[in-house]
Amino acid sequence: MAAGLSHRRDRRDYSNRVPAFDSGAMLAVAREEAMLGRSEGGVPIGAALFTVDGALLGRGRNRRVQDGDPAMHAETSAFRNAGRRPHYRDTVMVTTLSPCWYCSGLVRQFGIGHVVIGEATTFSGGHDWLAEHGVDITILDDPDCIAMMRAFIEKCPELWFEDIGVDGTGTRRGE
Ligand SMILES: [Zn+2]
Repeated sequence: MAAGLSHRRDRRDYSNRVPAFDSGAMLAVAREEAMLGRSEGGVPIGAALFTVDGALLGRGRNRRVQDGDPAMHAETSAFRNAGRRPHYRDTVMVTTLSPCWYCSGLVRQFGIGHVVIGEATTFSGGHDWLAEHGVDITILDDPDCIAMMRAFIEKCPELWFEDIGVDGTGTRRGE
């Protein structure tokens, strides 16, 4: 666990810094994408990339089912929609769910400075690892995000296990 971990009512912030941006408003954009994905019959995970000043650069959702593309995760989609930038230090990735290893790798590869996470209850990805490597992590414990994922996992367990790369018994493929 990162040294800067602190508990503040219903949210966890791994950094001691108080973000200047409105993480709740940012999460609303990612949640909107997730709901759009759900209405399309896809995996309900949404994301958006903002500047630290709150300007929206790109938004997207998991489109594994819609596009038949296993690499199109929510964060990947938002990142690609944001287009090229000289660097990403001043950007914030907002996602409805704790980022998987693939998307955590994207955050480190491009040096994204801060990740805001809707929830890490139904799935815990690479956020501890990111925090250990200096990425600011904010977990909002958003009840709507938790409810949406719970309902999806219950309804479509095989789609969910496919998405996180494990078989039905919870064993990661290749292990
Ligand atoms: Zn991912």
